[in-house]
Amino acid sequence: MKELREKIQKEGTVLGENVLKVDGFLTHQIDAKLMSQIGQRFAELYKDRGITKIVTIEASGIAPAVFAGLAMDVPVIFARKQKSLTMNQELLTASVYSFTKQVTNDISISTKFLTKNDHVLVIDDFLANGQAALGLIELCQQAGATVEGIGIVIEKSFQNGRQLIVDKGYRVDSLARIASLENNEVHFIIEEED
Ligand code: 5GP
Repeated sequence: MKELREKIQKEGTVLGENVLKVDGFLTHQIDAKLMSQIGQRFAELYKDRGITKIVTIEASGIAPAVFAGLAMDVPVIFARKQKSLTMNQELLTASVYSFTKQVTNDISISTKFLTKNDHVLVIDDFLANGQAALGLIELCQQAGATVEGIGIVIEKSFQNGRQLIVDKGYRVDSLARIASLENNEVHFIIEEED
């Protein structure tokens, strides 16, 4: 997605060899107009897949997921990283190792929000080593729901997340794909239809 790549070039900063900071429009302050375009793009990509729910993980997956939910007119569920006292119902849970925080979180969704009749689009802000997306897929599997695909805002293609997910037979759609962050510069993979 050209607008997204331009925004990353203009406002993203590279930390070390493999982390991209985009807190000016995605992970802290949110560019709602860009998120709306991102939501519409996911809706277009999945219009023929009978999506009934969007599943993401707090916190930074929520903005793109909500705009996709608005564009597709379906509910959005975000997995929680910490159990809340009000979450006293039955839970679907999975363990996820966080790439940026370097801790393992048990993530959870209440069983009442996902059923075997659901067709899910999983959305997240970043795809690195795939642990967050695989955890969300696992929660959907526990509910017996069908995962129609994984929608990612920014994929770091030099890490192995995409491969792990594709190897499990899932579709992955990333709106920006980064080939490398070498020399503090963002190098994109640009696909034809982009
Ligand atoms: P994975 O689970 O695929 O290894 O990493 C994805 C998760 O880690 C995302 O939910 C995102 O929050 C975080 N993440 C991974 N790489 C980056 C990065 O380069 N920048 C930021 N801001 N977050 C990242």
